Amino acid sequence: MPSVIVKPHALKALRRRHPWVFSGGIAEVKGRPLAGETVDILAASGQFIGRGAYSPQSQIRVRIWTFDPAEDINPSFFKKQLQRAVDFRRKQANGAYFKACRMVNAESDGLPGLIIDRYANFLVCQFLSAGTEYWKSAIVNTMQLLLPGLGIFERSDSEVREKEGFSKITGTLSGQAPPNLIKIGENDYYFWVDVRQGHKTGFYLDQRDSRTCIAEFARGTNVLNCFAYTGGFAVAALRAGAKSVTNIDSSEPALELAKRNATLNQLDTDKMQNIVGNVFVLLRRFRDVNRKFDLIILDPPKFAESSRKLDRAARGYKDINLLAIKMLKPGGILVTFSCSGALSRELFQKIVAGAAVDAGRDVQVIRWLSQPSDHPTRLNFPEGNYLKGIVGMVR
Ligand code: SAH
Repeated sequence: MPSVIVKPHALKALRRRHPWVFSGGIAEVKGRPLAGETVDILAASGQFIGRGAYSPQSQIRVRIWTFDPAEDINPSFFKKQLQRAVDFRRKQANGAYFKACRMVNAESDGLPGLIIDRYANFLVCQFLSAGTEYWKSAIVNTMQLLLPGLGIFERSDSEVREKEGFSKITGTLSGQAPPNLIKIGENDYYFWVDVRQGHKTGFYLDQRDSRTCIAEFARGTNVLNCFAYTGGFAVAALRAGAKSVTNIDSSEPALELAKRNATLNQLDTDKMQNIVGNVFVLLRRFRDVNRKFDLIILDPPKFAESSRKLDRAARGYKDINLLAIKMLKPGGILVTFSCSGALSRELFQKIVAGAAVDAGRDVQVIRWLSQPSDHPTRLNFPEGNYLKGIVGMVR
Protein backbone atom coordinates (compact mmCIF):
# COMPACT_ATOMS: atom_id res chain seq x y z
CA MET A 1 0.00 0.00 0.00
CA PRO A 2 1.33 3.50 -0.76
CA SER A 3 2.19 5.53 2.31
CA VAL A 4 2.63 9.08 3.48
CA ILE A 5 5.31 10.10 5.97
CA VAL A 6 4.22 13.07 8.06
CA LYS A 7 6.42 15.82 9.46
CA PRO A 8 6.86 15.97 13.24
CA HIS A 9 4.74 19.15 13.62
CA ALA A 10 1.75 17.43 12.04
CA LEU A 11 1.88 14.49 14.44
CA LYS A 12 0.39 16.30 17.39
CA ALA A 13 -3.05 16.86 15.84
CA LEU A 14 -3.10 13.34 14.40
CA ARG A 15 -2.26 11.79 17.76
CA ARG A 16 -5.30 13.66 19.09
CA ARG A 17 -7.21 11.92 16.29
CA HIS A 18 -7.93 14.92 14.16
CA PRO A 19 -8.84 13.30 10.82
CA TRP A 20 -6.97 15.52 8.33
CA VAL A 21 -3.38 15.61 7.05
CA PHE A 22 -2.58 18.91 5.35
CA SER A 23 -0.23 19.10 2.37
CA GLY A 24 2.26 21.14 4.43
CA GLY A 25 2.47 18.35 7.01
CA ILE A 26 3.73 15.75 4.58
CA ALA A 27 7.44 14.93 4.39
CA GLU A 28 7.27 12.24 1.73
CA VAL A 29 4.81 10.21 -0.34
CA LYS A 30 5.92 6.64 -1.04
CA GLY A 31 4.42 4.95 -4.08
CA ARG A 32 2.08 6.70 -6.49
CA PRO A 33 -1.35 6.80 -4.89
CA LEU A 34 -4.27 7.71 -7.15
CA ALA A 35 -6.95 10.17 -6.10
CA GLY A 36 -9.00 8.52 -3.38
CA GLU A 37 -6.75 5.50 -2.98
CA THR A 38 -6.01 4.29 0.53
CA VAL A 39 -2.63 5.19 2.04
CA ASP A 40 -1.00 4.43 5.37
CA ILE A 41 0.05 7.48 7.34
CA LEU A 42 3.36 6.92 9.12
CA ALA A 43 5.64 8.88 11.43
CA ALA A 44 9.26 9.31 10.30
CA SER A 45 10.12 6.41 12.63
CA GLY A 46 7.80 4.17 10.60
CA GLN A 47 5.19 4.06 13.38
CA PHE A 48 1.61 3.63 12.11
CA ILE A 49 -0.57 6.70 12.66
CA GLY A 50 -3.64 6.09 10.56
CA ARG A 51 -5.09 5.03 7.22
CA GLY A 52 -6.90 7.37 4.90
CA ALA A 53 -7.84 8.54 1.42
CA TYR A 54 -5.22 10.38 -0.60
CA SER A 55 -6.29 13.52 -2.44
CA PRO A 56 -3.44 14.82 -4.62
CA GLN A 57 -5.00 18.21 -5.44
CA SER A 58 -6.49 19.17 -2.09
CA GLN A 59 -4.83 21.12 0.70
CA ILE A 60 -6.33 18.42 2.90
CA ARG A 61 -4.08 15.81 1.34
CA VAL A 62 -5.29 12.82 3.35
CA ARG A 63 -8.62 12.31 5.13
CA ILE A 64 -8.38 9.55 7.68
CA TRP A 65 -10.72 6.57 7.63
CA THR A 66 -9.26 4.78 10.65
CA PHE A 67 -6.61 5.03 13.35
CA ASP A 68 -6.68 1.25 13.85
CA PRO A 69 -3.79 -0.58 12.11
CA ALA A 70 -5.88 -3.77 11.97
CA GLU A 71 -8.75 -2.17 10.07
CA ASP A 72 -8.78 -2.65 6.30
CA ILE A 73 -10.52 -0.14 4.07
CA ASN A 74 -12.86 -2.17 1.90
CA PRO A 75 -16.63 -2.41 1.27
CA SER A 76 -17.10 -4.05 4.71
CA PHE A 77 -15.58 -0.99 6.37
CA PHE A 78 -18.16 1.24 4.68
CA LYS A 79 -20.94 -1.17 5.58
CA LYS A 80 -19.96 -1.00 9.24
CA GLN A 81 -19.69 2.80 9.35
CA LEU A 82 -22.91 3.38 7.42
CA GLN A 83 -24.84 0.84 9.47
CA ARG A 84 -23.74 2.59 12.64
CA ALA A 85 -24.83 5.98 11.31
CA VAL A 86 -28.25 4.72 10.17
CA ASP A 87 -28.89 2.76 13.38
CA PHE A 88 -28.16 5.83 15.47
CA ARG A 89 -30.73 7.96 13.60
CA ARG A 90 -33.27 5.15 13.70
CA LYS A 91 -33.08 4.96 17.49
CA GLN A 92 -32.56 8.62 18.28
CA ALA A 93 -35.67 10.45 19.56
CA ASN A 94 -37.57 7.18 19.03
CA GLY A 95 -37.15 7.64 15.32
CA ALA A 96 -39.06 10.96 15.36
CA TYR A 97 -36.98 12.47 12.59
CA PHE A 98 -35.89 9.29 10.82
CA LYS A 99 -37.82 10.17 7.64
CA ALA A 100 -36.23 13.62 7.24
CA CYS A 101 -32.77 13.82 8.70
CA ARG A 102 -29.05 13.90 8.07
CA MET A 103 -28.31 10.19 7.85
CA VAL A 104 -24.53 10.54 7.47
CA ASN A 105 -22.60 13.56 8.71
CA ALA A 106 -19.16 13.22 7.12
CA GLU A 107 -16.12 13.35 9.44
CA SER A 108 -18.41 13.33 12.46
CA ASP A 109 -19.72 9.89 11.46
CA GLY A 110 -16.26 8.62 10.59
CA LEU A 111 -16.81 9.11 6.84
CA PRO A 112 -14.89 12.23 5.79
CA GLY A 113 -16.47 14.09 2.88
CA LEU A 114 -19.73 12.11 2.79
CA ILE A 115 -23.10 13.75 3.39
CA ILE A 116 -26.33 11.75 3.07
CA ASP A 117 -29.64 13.44 3.85
CA ARG A 118 -32.96 11.66 3.84
CA TYR A 119 -36.08 13.38 2.54
CA ALA A 120 -39.04 10.97 2.82
CA ASN A 121 -38.46 8.27 0.16
CA PHE A 122 -35.21 9.69 -1.16
CA LEU A 123 -31.60 9.90 -0.06
CA VAL A 124 -29.65 12.88 -1.34
CA CYS A 125 -25.87 12.42 -1.26
CA GLN A 126 -22.84 14.64 -1.55
CA PHE A 127 -19.51 12.97 -2.33
CA LEU A 128 -17.21 15.84 -1.45
CA SER A 129 -13.80 14.20 -1.16
CA ALA A 130 -11.54 12.06 -3.35
CA GLY A 131 -12.04 9.14 -0.95
CA THR A 132 -15.83 9.18 -1.09
CA GLU A 133 -15.70 9.48 -4.88
CA TYR A 134 -13.40 6.44 -5.01
CA TRP A 135 -15.74 4.34 -2.86
CA LYS A 136 -18.99 5.71 -4.31
CA SER A 137 -20.42 2.45 -5.60
CA ALA A 138 -19.69 0.59 -2.33
CA ILE A 139 -21.44 3.41 -0.45
CA VAL A 140 -24.48 3.46 -2.75
CA ASN A 141 -24.79 -0.36 -2.70
CA THR A 142 -24.70 -0.37 1.09
CA MET A 143 -27.32 2.37 1.41
CA GLN A 144 -29.60 0.36 -0.90
CA LEU A 145 -29.32 -2.57 1.50
CA LEU A 146 -29.69 -0.52 4.68
CA LEU A 147 -32.71 1.49 3.52
CA PRO A 148 -34.26 -0.57 0.74
CA GLY A 149 -36.68 1.04 -1.71
CA LEU A 150 -35.41 4.59 -1.40
CA GLY A 151 -34.33 6.53 -4.49
CA ILE A 152 -30.73 7.72 -4.25
CA PHE A 153 -29.89 11.08 -5.81
CA GLU A 154 -26.51 12.79 -6.02
CA ARG A 155 -25.99 16.51 -5.41
CA SER A 156 -22.20 16.67 -5.56
CA ASP A 157 -22.28 20.25 -6.78
CA SER A 158 -20.53 21.99 -3.90
CA GLU A 159 -17.44 24.17 -4.34
CA VAL A 160 -15.56 21.91 -1.90
CA ARG A 161 -15.56 19.21 -4.53
CA GLU A 162 -13.67 21.40 -6.97
CA LYS A 163 -10.93 21.90 -4.38
CA GLU A 164 -10.56 18.12 -4.44
CA GLY A 165 -10.09 18.27 -8.22
CA PHE A 166 -13.48 16.85 -9.17
CA SER A 167 -16.13 18.51 -11.30
CA LYS A 168 -19.61 19.11 -9.98
CA ILE A 169 -22.08 16.36 -10.72
CA THR A 170 -25.76 15.68 -10.00
CA GLY A 171 -28.09 12.87 -10.98
CA THR A 172 -29.93 9.74 -9.94
CA LEU A 173 -27.65 6.98 -8.62
CA SER A 174 -30.22 4.32 -7.85
CA GLY A 175 -33.97 3.67 -7.89
CA GLN A 176 -36.55 6.29 -8.74
CA ALA A 177 -35.60 9.80 -9.76
CA PRO A 178 -36.90 12.35 -7.25
CA PRO A 179 -39.79 14.64 -8.17
CA ASN A 180 -39.09 18.39 -8.35
CA LEU A 181 -40.45 18.87 -4.85
CA ILE A 182 -40.47 16.32 -2.05
CA LYS A 183 -42.83 16.75 0.89
CA ILE A 184 -41.27 16.09 4.28
CA GLY A 185 -42.75 16.10 7.77
CA GLU A 186 -40.83 17.73 10.61
CA ASN A 187 -42.13 18.13 14.14
CA ASP A 188 -45.71 19.37 13.53
CA TYR A 189 -44.96 20.91 10.16
CA TYR A 190 -44.61 19.92 6.54
CA PHE A 191 -42.15 21.39 4.08
CA TRP A 192 -41.58 21.18 0.34
CA VAL A 193 -37.94 20.40 -0.41
CA ASP A 194 -36.35 21.10 -3.77
CA VAL A 195 -33.62 18.50 -3.86
CA ARG A 196 -32.62 19.31 -7.45
CA GLN A 197 -32.16 23.09 -7.28
CA GLY A 198 -32.27 23.90 -3.55
CA HIS A 199 -29.25 24.84 -1.45
CA LYS A 200 -26.96 22.05 -0.22
CA THR A 201 -29.12 18.93 -0.52
CA GLY A 202 -32.31 21.01 -0.52
CA PHE A 203 -33.16 21.96 3.06
CA TYR A 204 -31.58 23.20 6.29
CA LEU A 205 -32.20 20.13 8.39
CA ASP A 206 -29.61 21.47 10.84
CA GLN A 207 -32.09 24.14 12.03
CA ARG A 208 -34.77 21.66 13.18
CA ASP A 209 -34.21 22.30 16.90
CA SER A 210 -33.94 26.04 16.30
CA ARG A 211 -37.32 26.03 14.57
CA THR A 212 -38.83 24.49 17.71
CA CYS A 213 -37.08 27.12 19.82
CA ILE A 214 -38.33 30.03 17.73
CA ALA A 215 -41.89 28.76 18.09
CA GLU A 216 -41.47 29.30 21.83
CA PHE A 217 -40.92 33.04 21.44
CA ALA A 218 -43.08 33.88 18.42
CA ARG A 219 -46.63 34.13 19.79
CA GLY A 220 -48.15 37.56 19.17
CA THR A 221 -44.97 38.98 17.62
CA ASN A 222 -44.06 40.83 14.43
CA VAL A 223 -41.13 38.84 13.08
CA LEU A 224 -38.33 39.85 10.74
CA ASN A 225 -36.84 36.69 9.26
CA CYS A 226 -33.55 37.55 7.53
CA PHE A 227 -31.99 34.99 5.17
CA ALA A 228 -35.34 33.19 5.15
CA TYR A 229 -34.66 30.62 2.39
CA THR A 230 -37.81 28.47 2.05
CA GLY A 231 -39.40 29.78 5.21
CA GLY A 232 -38.56 27.15 7.82
CA PHE A 233 -38.52 29.73 10.61
CA ALA A 234 -41.48 31.59 9.10
CA VAL A 235 -43.66 28.49 9.24
CA ALA A 236 -42.60 27.77 12.82
CA ALA A 237 -43.33 31.37 13.89
CA LEU A 238 -46.72 31.61 12.16
CA ARG A 239 -47.79 28.25 13.48
CA ALA A 240 -46.88 29.44 16.98
CA GLY A 241 -49.16 32.47 16.57
CA ALA A 242 -46.93 35.24 15.23
CA LYS A 243 -48.91 38.30 14.05
CA SER A 244 -46.76 38.74 10.96
CA VAL A 245 -43.55 37.48 9.41
CA THR A 246 -41.44 39.52 6.99
CA ASN A 247 -39.06 37.25 5.08
CA ILE A 248 -35.97 38.61 3.35
CA ASP A 249 -33.86 36.53 0.99
CA SER A 250 -31.86 37.22 -2.15
CA SER A 251 -33.34 34.13 -3.81
CA GLU A 252 -36.75 34.61 -5.39
CA PRO A 253 -37.42 30.88 -5.94
CA ALA A 254 -36.63 30.24 -2.26
CA LEU A 255 -39.19 32.82 -1.16
CA GLU A 256 -41.78 31.44 -3.57
CA LEU A 257 -41.32 28.09 -1.90
CA ALA A 258 -41.68 29.81 1.49
CA LYS A 259 -45.16 30.92 0.43
CA ARG A 260 -46.01 27.42 -0.69
CA ASN A 261 -44.72 26.07 2.61
CA ALA A 262 -47.07 28.42 4.48
CA THR A 263 -49.99 27.16 2.40
CA LEU A 264 -48.92 23.56 2.92
CA ASN A 265 -49.25 24.13 6.67
CA GLN A 266 -52.64 25.86 6.28
CA LEU A 267 -51.24 29.14 7.52
CA ASP A 268 -52.60 32.54 6.55
CA THR A 269 -50.28 33.73 3.77
CA ASP A 270 -51.54 37.32 4.25
CA LYS A 271 -49.49 37.35 7.42
CA MET A 272 -46.34 36.58 5.42
CA GLN A 273 -44.54 39.28 3.48
CA ASN A 274 -41.68 38.27 1.20
CA ILE A 275 -39.00 40.70 0.11
CA VAL A 276 -36.41 39.64 -2.45
CA GLY A 277 -33.24 41.58 -1.76
CA ASN A 278 -29.99 42.03 0.10
CA VAL A 279 -30.30 41.91 3.90
CA PHE A 280 -27.41 44.38 4.34
CA VAL A 281 -29.26 46.96 2.23
CA LEU A 282 -32.79 46.27 3.46
CA LEU A 283 -31.88 46.45 7.15
CA ARG A 284 -30.53 49.96 6.52
CA ARG A 285 -33.70 50.92 4.68
CA PHE A 286 -35.80 49.68 7.62
CA ARG A 287 -33.59 51.58 10.05
CA ASP A 288 -34.02 54.78 8.07
CA VAL A 289 -37.81 54.58 8.31
CA ASN A 290 -37.59 53.54 11.97
CA ARG A 291 -39.27 50.17 11.54
CA LYS A 292 -39.38 48.05 14.70
CA PHE A 293 -39.90 44.35 15.30
CA ASP A 294 -40.50 42.06 18.28
CA LEU A 295 -38.43 39.16 17.00
CA ILE A 296 -35.58 39.25 14.51
CA ILE A 297 -33.89 36.17 13.08
CA LEU A 298 -30.48 36.39 11.41
CA ASP A 299 -29.42 33.15 9.74
CA PRO A 300 -26.85 34.20 7.15
CA PRO A 301 -24.84 31.91 4.89
CA LYS A 302 -21.29 31.04 5.89
CA PHE A 303 -19.37 34.35 5.93
CA ALA A 304 -16.02 32.75 6.87
CA GLU A 305 -14.98 30.03 4.42
CA SER A 306 -11.72 29.61 6.31
CA SER A 307 -9.83 31.12 9.23
CA ARG A 308 -8.06 33.47 6.79
CA LYS A 309 -11.36 35.18 6.08
CA LEU A 310 -12.33 35.68 9.72
CA ASP A 311 -11.80 39.44 9.86
CA ARG A 312 -14.09 40.16 6.96
CA ALA A 313 -16.66 37.70 8.26
CA ALA A 314 -16.58 39.30 11.71
CA ARG A 315 -17.37 42.68 10.16
CA GLY A 316 -20.33 41.18 8.29
CA TYR A 317 -21.75 39.53 11.42
CA LYS A 318 -21.27 42.68 13.46
CA ASP A 319 -22.97 44.85 10.85
CA ILE A 320 -26.22 42.86 10.64
CA ASN A 321 -26.37 42.22 14.39
CA LEU A 322 -25.91 45.91 15.16
CA LEU A 323 -28.69 46.90 12.77
CA ALA A 324 -31.02 44.18 14.08
CA ILE A 325 -30.45 45.00 17.75
CA LYS A 326 -31.30 48.66 17.11
CA MET A 327 -34.51 47.62 15.36
CA LEU A 328 -35.86 45.53 18.24
CA LYS A 329 -38.43 46.93 20.63
CA PRO A 330 -37.45 46.80 24.33
CA GLY A 331 -37.91 43.19 25.43
CA GLY A 332 -37.61 42.05 21.82
CA ILE A 333 -35.86 38.83 20.89
CA LEU A 334 -32.81 38.44 18.68
CA VAL A 335 -32.09 34.98 17.30
CA THR A 336 -28.72 35.19 15.61
CA PHE A 337 -26.68 32.42 13.98
CA SER A 338 -23.31 31.73 12.48
CA CYS A 339 -22.70 28.58 10.46
CA SER A 340 -19.00 29.32 9.88
CA GLY A 341 -17.01 26.40 11.24
CA ALA A 342 -13.90 28.61 11.33
CA LEU A 343 -15.56 31.04 13.75
CA SER A 344 -15.65 29.86 17.36
CA ARG A 345 -18.53 30.25 19.79
CA GLU A 346 -16.40 32.61 21.87
CA LEU A 347 -15.63 34.87 18.95
CA PHE A 348 -19.26 34.88 17.83
CA GLN A 349 -20.35 35.90 21.32
CA LYS A 350 -17.76 38.70 21.28
CA ILE A 351 -19.00 39.98 17.94
CA VAL A 352 -22.64 40.07 19.04
CA ALA A 353 -21.61 41.64 22.36
CA GLY A 354 -19.71 44.33 20.45
CA ALA A 355 -22.77 44.99 18.30
CA ALA A 356 -24.95 45.35 21.42
CA VAL A 357 -22.52 47.85 22.98
CA ASP A 358 -22.42 49.92 19.80
CA ALA A 359 -26.21 49.84 19.63
CA GLY A 360 -26.34 51.07 23.23
CA ARG A 361 -28.49 48.10 24.27
CA ASP A 362 -28.10 45.32 26.76
CA VAL A 363 -28.61 41.75 25.53
CA GLN A 364 -29.52 39.00 27.94
CA VAL A 365 -28.70 35.54 26.56
CA ILE A 366 -31.67 33.24 27.02
CA ARG A 367 -30.32 30.24 25.20
CA TRP A 368 -27.51 28.96 23.01
CA LEU A 369 -28.54 26.98 19.94
CA SER A 370 -26.65 24.32 18.06
CA GLN A 371 -27.02 21.46 15.62
CA PRO A 372 -29.62 18.77 16.30
CA SER A 373 -28.65 15.22 17.21
CA ASP A 374 -28.65 13.93 13.63
CA HIS A 375 -25.69 16.31 13.09
CA PRO A 376 -23.43 14.89 15.80
CA THR A 377 -19.88 16.15 16.10
CA ARG A 378 -16.67 14.56 17.33
CA LEU A 379 -14.75 16.02 20.21
CA ASN A 380 -11.56 15.74 18.17
CA PHE A 381 -13.08 17.44 15.12
CA PRO A 382 -14.23 20.87 16.33
CA GLU A 383 -14.73 22.05 12.73
CA GLY A 384 -17.80 19.81 12.64
CA ASN A 385 -19.46 21.93 15.32
CA TYR A 386 -20.21 24.73 12.86
CA LEU A 387 -23.66 25.93 13.82
CA LYS A 388 -24.06 28.30 16.75
CA GLY A 389 -26.94 30.54 17.66
CA ILE A 390 -27.75 32.97 20.43
CA VAL A 391 -31.28 33.72 21.58
CA GLY A 392 -31.07 37.06 23.34
CA MET A 393 -33.54 39.45 24.91
CA VAL A 394 -32.73 43.02 24.02
CA ARG A 395 -33.29 45.53 26.83
N1 SAH B 1 -32.90 30.33 7.59
C1 SAH B 1 -32.94 29.38 6.50
C2 SAH B 1 -31.58 29.05 5.95
C3 SAH B 1 -30.77 30.26 5.52
S1 SAH B 1 -29.48 29.88 4.41
C4 SAH B 1 -33.66 28.13 6.93
O1 SAH B 1 -33.88 27.95 8.12
O2 SAH B 1 -34.03 27.33 6.08
C5 SAH B 1 -28.95 31.43 3.91
C6 SAH B 1 -29.91 32.16 2.95
O3 SAH B 1 -29.41 33.46 2.77
C7 SAH B 1 -30.03 31.57 1.58
O4 SAH B 1 -31.39 31.32 1.30
C8 SAH B 1 -29.49 32.65 0.61
O5 SAH B 1 -30.27 32.75 -0.57
C9 SAH B 1 -29.65 33.88 1.43
N2 SAH B 1 -28.71 35.00 1.22
C10 SAH B 1 -27.37 34.94 1.09
N3 SAH B 1 -26.83 36.18 1.08
C11 SAH B 1 -27.87 37.04 1.21
C12 SAH B 1 -27.98 38.47 1.29
N4 SAH B 1 -26.89 39.24 1.26
N5 SAH B 1 -29.20 39.01 1.43
C13 SAH B 1 -30.30 38.22 1.48
N6 SAH B 1 -30.26 36.88 1.43
C14 SAH B 1 -29.07 36.30 1.29
